Amino acid sequence: MAVANFEAILPVSADVNSNGNLSVAGVDLAELAKKYSTPLYVYDGATIQHQVSTLRSLFKKYYPGEAAIAYASKVYFSYQMARKLAALGVGLDVISQTELRLAQKAGFSADGVHLHGNNKSEAEIKAALIWGVQAIVIDSMEELRLVEALAEEMDQIARIWLRVTPGLGLHTHPHIQTSHSDSKFGLYIQNGEAAEAIQYALKSDCLHLTGLHMHLGSQIFEAEPYRIAIEMMCNLAAENNYIPEELSPGGGWGVRYTPEDAVNEVETWVQTVSGAIQEACVRHDWPYPKLVLEPGRWLAGRAGVAVYSIGMQKTTPNGIHIIAVDGGLADNPRVALYQARYSALVVEAPQGSPSEKVRVVGKFCESGDVLIQEAHLPPAVRGQHLAIPVSGAYQLSMSSNYNCASRPAVLWLEDGRVEILQPREDLDSSPWLVYEP
Ligand SMILES: *Cc1c(COP(=O)(O)O)cnc(C)c1O
Repeated sequence: MAVANFEAILPVSADVNSNGNLSVAGVDLAELAKKYSTPLYVYDGATIQHQVSTLRSLFKKYYPGEAAIAYASKVYFSYQMARKLAALGVGLDVISQTELRLAQKAGFSADGVHLHGNNKSEAEIKAALIWGVQAIVIDSMEELRLVEALAEEMDQIARIWLRVTPGLGLHTHPHIQTSHSDSKFGLYIQNGEAAEAIQYALKSDCLHLTGLHMHLGSQIFEAEPYRIAIEMMCNLAAENNYIPEELSPGGGWGVRYTPEDAVNEVETWVQTVSGAIQEACVRHDWPYPKLVLEPGRWLAGRAGVAVYSIGMQKTTPNGIHIIAVDGGLADNPRVALYQARYSALVVEAPQGSPSEKVRVVGKFCESGDVLIQEAHLPPAVRGQHLAIPVSGAYQLSMSSNYNCASRPAVLWLEDGRVEILQPREDLDSSPWLVYEP
């Protein structure tokens, strides 16, 4: 691939075409921007497939038991995306009833679907029970009793996992830590609640405790916390005379957003997680449980590219060169939320030498609407386009209509073909916006 510095963070099919423009799956991004308008998001089918097959071959290499992938739908989801993922045979994490309905409609097998969430509604729990999902992932003692009561009322046996919280602090942004002592998520190991939940579930006639689950947080660049937490989770099970059939160490493996970011080999993750579970099996004399990994960001992040049109430029009195694009905070709140760092390329000059230090800002009425504090770009002019790699996770799924911005169109690119995953939102005829009683 010809875009040297960016090779590892652009989609696997990215290239520079004969017009000198950046392309994905053989499709010219400048032409797509003209045809579908901007901001525009594209997903590279080959990258999603590559991530799935990489993980599957690592399972074969490192884990002797059964293993499965569940995509965390919150990173990006739509009906057409769900269909693509269902066709790849992966499982799914859902949080809401709408995600659950989309999964059903898109052809997911209930046996790979997990209902997560720290405050599930009765309607969501009932929908999961009716469909017969692989696991309702219990997040609190109160929820354990609620699911039991609903299962009893529906004359069913609910398959559940318990989400345990090991009480570990991690080196990631505080907003995406989920396993520290004061996390809102899960049953705490520290205060005996997780043990109590295991005992309660094992005695219940309406609950089938099939496994244990943890999710340490997101954008994690170290494997050691997984090893420690798996050991804690397995010791907890053994101390309560419980042998899990399924074990899910969650997702959270981090990705590179810029060429300068550290490499984070997924092999390290799979090797560590598999090793820790195998060790526990030896220690406690267990058969290998089914391993379920739940990657979100790692699976979809690199597949996505955001494409913007370049507009106004100015230089501040302090000499900062500002380039504004036609999206920003509304389609990508990650910079404002987590101080996320990105890199960018000019679609019409992907190999241009990065001669200018610029700040890339959005068009929204917030000073925090900055996409990149300091980018290095070749000279670019109005009408050209900016591509931001690694835009596939937690951007559109957290997008808003701030300043009445329409949510962008989203395309799936594969072997030169273009499919629409999500058309551009039409706010002029949006029922909530133009509502008239
Ligand atoms: C968000 C989430 C994931 C995915 O996290 P990533 O950091 O995107 O891999 C997996 N499991 C659970 C329970 C989650 O909430």
